Amino acid sequence: MYRVLKRIKNISFEPINPTRVHGGNRATMLTPAPGYPEGPSMDDSPTNASPCSDPARSGLDRGSLQRGILDNLICLQGRYPGVATPHDWYMAFAYTVRDRLLARWVASAHTYLSREVRIACYLSAEFLIGPQLGNNLVNLGLETEARAALQALDQDLDALLALEEEPGLGNGGLGRLAACYMDSLATLEIPAIGYGIRYEFGIFDQEIRDGWQVEVTDKWLQKGNAWEIVRPDVSFYVGFGGHTENETDEQGHLRVRWIPTRQVKGVACDMPMQGYLVSTCNTLRLWKSEAVESFDLKDFNAGDYYQAVQEKVISETLSKVLYPNDEPEAGKRLRLAQQYFFVSCSLQDMLRLLKLKGKPVNRFGEVFAAQLNDTHPSIAVAELMRLLVDERQLPWDEAWDITRSTFAYTNHTLLPEALETWGLPLFQRLLPRLLEIIYEINRRFLDEIRQRFPGDDERVKRMSLIDEAGDRKVRMANLATIGSHAVNGVAALHSELLKQTVMRDFADVWPDRFCNVTNGVTPRRFMTLSNPGLARLLDETIGSGWVTDLTRLKALETHADDASFQDRWRKVKQSNKEALARLIQERTDIVVDPAALFDIQVKRIHEYKRQHLNALYIIGLYQRLRRDPRLAVAPRCFVFGGKAAPGYAMAKLIIRLITGMAEVVNNDPQIGGRLKVVFFPDFNVKNAHSVYPAADLSEQISTAGKEASGTGNMKFMMNGALTIGTLDGANVEIREEVGAENFFLFGLSAAQVEQVKREGYRPAERAQADDGLREVLDLIASGHFSRGEPDVFRPLVDNLLHADPFLVLADYADYVACQDRVSAAWHDTRRWTRMSILNTARSGKFSSDRAISEYCERIWKTPAVRITLARS
Ligand SMILES: *Cc1c(COP(=O)(O)O)cnc(C)c1O
Repeated sequence: MYRVLKRIKNISFEPINPTRVHGGNRATMLTPAPGYPEGPSMDDSPTNASPCSDPARSGLDRGSLQRGILDNLICLQGRYPGVATPHDWYMAFAYTVRDRLLARWVASAHTYLSREVRIACYLSAEFLIGPQLGNNLVNLGLETEARAALQALDQDLDALLALEEEPGLGNGGLGRLAACYMDSLATLEIPAIGYGIRYEFGIFDQEIRDGWQVEVTDKWLQKGNAWEIVRPDVSFYVGFGGHTENETDEQGHLRVRWIPTRQVKGVACDMPMQGYLVSTCNTLRLWKSEAVESFDLKDFNAGDYYQAVQEKVISETLSKVLYPNDEPEAGKRLRLAQQYFFVSCSLQDMLRLLKLKGKPVNRFGEVFAAQLNDTHPSIAVAELMRLLVDERQLPWDEAWDITRSTFAYTNHTLLPEALETWGLPLFQRLLPRLLEIIYEINRRFLDEIRQRFPGDDERVKRMSLIDEAGDRKVRMANLATIGSHAVNGVAALHSELLKQTVMRDFADVWPDRFCNVTNGVTPRRFMTLSNPGLARLLDETIGSGWVTDLTRLKALETHADDASFQDRWRKVKQSNKEALARLIQERTDIVVDPAALFDIQVKRIHEYKRQHLNALYIIGLYQRLRRDPRLAVAPRCFVFGGKAAPGYAMAKLIIRLITGMAEVVNNDPQIGGRLKVVFFPDFNVKNAHSVYPAADLSEQISTAGKEASGTGNMKFMMNGALTIGTLDGANVEIREEVGAENFFLFGLSAAQVEQVKREGYRPAERAQADDGLREVLDLIASGHFSRGEPDVFRPLVDNLLHADPFLVLADYADYVACQDRVSAAWHDTRRWTRMSILNTARSGKFSSDRAISEYCERIWKTPAVRITLARS
């Protein structure tokens, strides 16, 4: 790594002179700056040298790659081929790919600094980016040459890809969405920075022991991270605690000074985000916390050395671990501190970049569009006000205009219990100055509301930033909404419900502020990289344009009934299923038949996602088969995967039910292998690569109105799976696109769910009325799936019978009937294949490129900027 950096630093660069650059000085525009974002070097010698004139660093042919790998093996890993470990080869290869990214990275950074551009800043507490090597190869168009180069060195590309640790910097869909968006931003050549937290421990690794989930620490950085460049010179201080003081400045203005009791240093850790077959390479900038080396701690001055050391430990803990969602209690204080830490560092960094661009602070909102990915970064609204008013002495109103023109907010949930709030005492202690600012925002905002709705005190209470009922709390969704110029939901249904429910009062006041941007996923990772067989077939059939214009998949429709194309289609699916079957056997010892219908539900385990509804169906089917062994049902392999939050007991019990079912069903001679149940451990992005392409049936069975969008549903669809699902989230749009006849719909609608609840839902009565359902519940309660211990699943069965908040029993009968339609359809292979082809053909809408284009046009106003590489 040292050599790479040193090389780049040794090259001379022109200083950036904005006036000259705007005049279109070509040489300046094309000259890469040193590693983004140190900014311009002070060296004035004009040069147009490429930082990577050595073909071993920049060549894209197999010979150059081979030389690069050998160079890096020796110069970076300090090994020669005879003794190199597989990991050495992986690192040497990853560095060789990174060398190719770096030239694009510095060229992009230089262009953004030197030219009139608007930069999209995606603020997210999670980026579930997954392994980078394969993706970078695809986006650089290097896969074939790299495979050949490695082969010449006796190395296998797939084996090296398998060695990369997963950067699990997210919980699930929300973090993965942020990662897909980084891919699309770069591919669409939009200047962008992703800002987040560099967790030392990402989401835990899941192991299954005795049928239960066990959490294992994710030590993803243990062997180093080839993609990361740490920038010790890009660091900021973030204060916590203490008190505020009022003072009057020389001009006689009242100023507030915040005197924190402790400060934490945030250091930038950057990762390149390369676009697909373009020169744009954006930055994912993640903040690592460090102790401040010398800070005038009162305790330290008093000679309390150990107190000072304690502070150091706490500071370094800040970016230590990612918190699982769905856990209301866990580490509240540290989580708020994490949020403020990364948001403050990011905004300070944006101010620094603005200055590097030679722009005054009041242009902030013109240069940056900042998206708040859920409420996790919403403290940014108050922090930008603090930076502008307290630190840059801007008048409040001007600062407020800048803030609102900068931010936009994406809401990800309607579940009231999931809307983020922070207790006032905690907030006051940790961020006293920010609370004052929130009060001031609130005071001005509520004055406006009172003027518009005189006497409507209830409305004022509902819209206030402070929840005054019971223990007083700060409402982060309200802060994000008031501080943003746009608020969006993530699927059409979700955006509608948002306006009708949790955001209703705000939609009354600012109807134009609300919009929808349906989520999308990147076809580079979830098709090209993870389903190469399908990608090849598509290239040969309709050309390769679909990768960046997914609507071109429509051209497949004319082949949907073509027998020979259908054959090829099935062969691709079959070989993906065989690969998954091998992986299943390797990880679980369960043998599954690749000819069976692969029925897959992979996603976080949560009651609203209703993995237990799927389980109830399987148990019912198992009972029917035992009763009538000659029953004609399609042989099925049910695959589940997903992590449960460590403190979410019910979710963990659902995992135990699935593994318990697997033990019983897979080994029952009466079933004779016609049903198989698999819990695939440790579902993450890396494993996802093998799962989505192998699915025949995609389970999207959440209670209607609860899943904001879902993105797993889109990945399955692109890879030719049929969906069984409710009218929830993006399922609605998937069904619209693919046609009702190619979608297995069941269950109550969101409106019906609300109605059933209003009328007083009594789940026990549903069980009483349905013999099959009652028998299923009785069998679970008997201990049949818990090695004879009847108490294990008692909480689950009781909850279903006496509360069932997600209407599992209400939807059960319709789900069973729908699953039986699936079985019947599977028997007609040609019809099934046609539906599979049409699912892929009509999945174009769900590319993250479409979603990002909508954000750019409607919300961020960020045009594309072409990056040109200097020729060496
Ligand atoms: C896509 C994805 C998710 C989200 O899945 P949903 O079905 O939308 O909940 C979660 N985890 C991983 C690893 C994913 O790739």
